Parts: sequence; C-alpha cells; structure tokens
Amino acid sequence: MADCIFCKIVSKQIPSEVVYEDDQVFVFHDINPQAPTHLLVIPKEHIQSAAHVTEKDKELLGQMFVVIKNVTEKLGLDKEGYRIVNNCGELGGQQVDHLHFHVLGGRQMQWPPG
Ligand code: AMP
Ligand code: ZN
Repeated sequence: MADCIFCKIVSKQIPSEVVYEDDQVFVFHDINPQAPTHLLVIPKEHIQSAAHVTEKDKELLGQMFVVIKNVTEKLGLDKEGYRIVNNCGELGGQQVDHLHFHVLGGRQMQWPPG
C-alpha cells in the first residue's frame, strides 16, 4: 500500500533493523522500544488490522506465530518469557494501520496494561 510506513519497511524504501524475513513475514526492531527487546512482527502483505483478517489469512497468521516462536528462541527470550501485543483500531491504541504484533521481552511486564 503506497502510503503505509510498514509496507515501505518491507520493501526497504525505509530502513529498519531487520531480525528475520521470509516470503510472508517480516520482523524488525521497534524504533521506540518499550522493553530491552521490542520487536514488530508483520505480514508482508498489507492487512489493516486484526479486525481486517479474513479466512484466507489463516495460514499467514499461523506462520506469524511460528516465526515469533523461532525468533524469541533465537534471541533467548523464551526462557524468561515475553509479551505479545496487538493494538487494534482507535480504542486499541493502534497508530500504524498495518497489522503487527509487538513482542516485548527482557523486563517484568505488568497487568492490566494501560
Ligand atoms: P501501534 O501503536 O501498535 O500501531 O505500534 C506502532 C509501532 O510502530 C510503535 O511502537 C512505533 O514505535 C513503531 N514504529 C513506527 N515507525 C517505525 C519505524 N520506522 N521503524 C520501527 N518502528 C516504528
Ligand atoms: Zn502496509
């Protein structure tokens, strides 16, 4: 999508600190980290939000979670644990309208979130 910052990161028009990519999924470091490790896991295809996922995205969503498992293992986050966050829509606090999972690790998380 032409005006989407995450589509531009996928196509490398905007640089990012890439952690992993395959034909469906792209992982990079958040530019404004909220934890010692703060990754963003996104589909290469533009999907606006979790509210815009459809039946055809089932395999893609599964692959995103396999990637989260593999990347967190590689970075050693899996032993202590981590948090996966999806902000969906305005009240969910979503600022970038391209589906993404935040993966936060390296500190104790609190509950409830703000
Ligand atoms: P959300 O509020 O859930 O939409 O999260 C958007 C996230 O994208 C925020 O955590 C931002 O810090 C992050 N972000 C925005 N622009 C960039 C960028 N160019 N590179 C890396 N992360 C970014
Ligand atoms: Zn996009």
